[in-house]
Amino acid sequence: MTSSSERSTKAPDARLVQRFAAIVGHEHAITEPEAQLPYLREWRDLYMGRTALVVKPASAQDVSRILALANAEGVGVVAQGGNTGLVGGQIPSESGAEIVLSLTRLRTIRAVDAAGGSMTVEAGLTLAEAQEAARGAGSLFPLSLASEGSATIGGALATNAGGVAVLAYGSARALTLGLEVVLADGSVWDGLKALKKDNTGYDLRDLFIGSEGTLGIITAATLKLHPRPAETATAFVALPGLDTLLPLFQLAEARAGTGLTAFEFMSGELLSFVARHIPATRRPLGGEAPWYVLLEISGAIEGRARPMIEELLTHAAAAGLIGDATVAASLTQAAELWKLRETASEAQKGEGGSIKHDVSVPVARIPDLIREAALVVEEICPGARPVPFGHFGDGNVHYNVSQPAGMARQDFLDLWGPMSRAVHDVVVSLGGSISAEHGIGRLKRDELRRVKSPIEIDLMRRIKAALDPKGILNPGKVVGG
Ligand code: ZN
Repeated sequence: MTSSSERSTKAPDARLVQRFAAIVGHEHAITEPEAQLPYLREWRDLYMGRTALVVKPASAQDVSRILALANAEGVGVVAQGGNTGLVGGQIPSESGAEIVLSLTRLRTIRAVDAAGGSMTVEAGLTLAEAQEAARGAGSLFPLSLASEGSATIGGALATNAGGVAVLAYGSARALTLGLEVVLADGSVWDGLKALKKDNTGYDLRDLFIGSEGTLGIITAATLKLHPRPAETATAFVALPGLDTLLPLFQLAEARAGTGLTAFEFMSGELLSFVARHIPATRRPLGGEAPWYVLLEISGAIEGRARPMIEELLTHAAAAGLIGDATVAASLTQAAELWKLRETASEAQKGEGGSIKHDVSVPVARIPDLIREAALVVEEICPGARPVPFGHFGDGNVHYNVSQPAGMARQDFLDLWGPMSRAVHDVVVSLGGSISAEHGIGRLKRDELRRVKSPIEIDLMRRIKAALDPKGILNPGKVVGG
């Protein structure tokens, strides 16, 4: 069988560009290289693509006509939301052979049903706008990421994004009830159901979530809403060592139960990066500890969360699990504490080159991962500075490594391949995954083949070939290329 990944797509010629442009109107078809730039470069500067055309449809019908034409003519299509992806999945290749399909004009909130616990929105709405729409109806849409001001619903679902609220509410997949998807040939699947239970054959919805634009293009989604907590309490805590992370998490879970809505951790060195490079931040605690945790407890009843977090900290201190701790006294203070965590990625830019890993292991193995990965990193690049952080409660570590001080940035980044393979080998040996919440895109495409079993890769390729026989959807990403 010929897999779709072996077929090649071609760049559209000038006449074909005109035909695509006619579908959306010429003002929504970008051909000038300067104006295309924001769609071709991703924020880590790892990839810089080329394209003949960025096309911006306004509706699922437009997307349908674009894909029908692309499929008929064999033109590759790279779907893009807010261009905040971290694995290059939303960037066209350097060959110029694909067009970019930006979903940012699909912005309609089609329905909000607070009583039924759902809302239906189009793919180009940002996460922050979706959160706001839910808030307006007295509900909570909990999916929350550092980039939520630009990241879109379509992109978050296509990558099965995680973020800081997964511990309590699950990742994008767990928050999706139904989808509307345009398939490679332009046909539209209306799967916008608001059902919490549906056992009718294969789960088509889950096939598209996390498929990164390689199986179909998500144009709208019915999302799950949750009740808004009456109150949240936030604490920032210093830890004396790596070994107290897990017992502190277990204690927090035991005392707060489902009220534990965040348990984020970061290394002491990373907090120094934040204090050094992010304006208007300061260390919330005196001294320097090797590890810090940001804890959040939410309560359905006013007045319960704060005493609960204080009691937890008292117990943790008595057990020797924590050093200093501070509890936010206001929403402003809570936002300041969250800022320390949310700017952790950005702060690494100030320290030169950074090699990133978004990995997961069983929660209890996180300390093993951190210890063992540090050894292989030091072997590959003596003096490199691992600054792990992430969503401890999800077993999700952003195992990022900053270059040694004084080393040339590019020399360090040239070690990305060997260092990632070594770190991923540690992850796999601990029963983990090489992508926890960012996806595969282009960055981890070759690693996927290395760590997945042949039967898994074969199944994925057969699904890809069945849904996209001409291989026009995001060529060269995930299992393609
Ligand atoms: Zn994360």
